Amino acid sequence: MPDKKTAQIYKTEGPDETLQIGRTLGERLKPGDTVLLIGDLGAGKTCFIQGLCAGLGVKEAVTSPTFTLINEYEGRLPVAHFDLYRLDDPEAVLDLGFDEYIDSDSVCLIEWADKFPEVMPAEAIVVRIEIREGDGREVVVG
Ligand code: ADP
Ligand code: MG
Repeated sequence: MPDKKTAQIYKTEGPDETLQIGRTLGERLKPGDTVLLIGDLGAGKTCFIQGLCAGLGVKEAVTSPTFTLINEYEGRLPVAHFDLYRLDDPEAVLDLGFDEYIDSDSVCLIEWADKFPEVMPAEAIVVRIEIREGDGREVVVG
């Protein structure tokens, strides 16, 4: 995994490039890894996760679980994909069985992780995506 002290910074010019960075990370993930996705609506969190899941060998379609809150996929590892956008309370996050997922061998991918820093694991890969001009994005992985 990326060294904790050195974040990697990428500039992307379209969804394909963001997807590709996700794919490369996905190929390296290990059982139990957690990835926290941070960025505004439309930044490309789900796009990055689509690449990540491709890198994990997930064959099914990956979409934001905005209403279902959690999607689960099976790739070379089990994957749990969270979208916390609609939740307002850390208790509601825990009610999803959040800690059990985090403690499991599933790879946990969490959109809007920055809304609930108090329940996020300390050991996690953080992916921050910032919107630049047009289709430009800055993707920081650390
Ligand atoms: P989020 O999950 O952060 O709300 P999505 O991944 O669902 O965002 O949507 C990102 C949107 O931005 C998509 O419509 C995608 O096509 C578009 N887009 C444009 N440029 C980029 C880029 N460089 N990286 C990722 N997505 C981009
Ligand atoms: Mg999303």
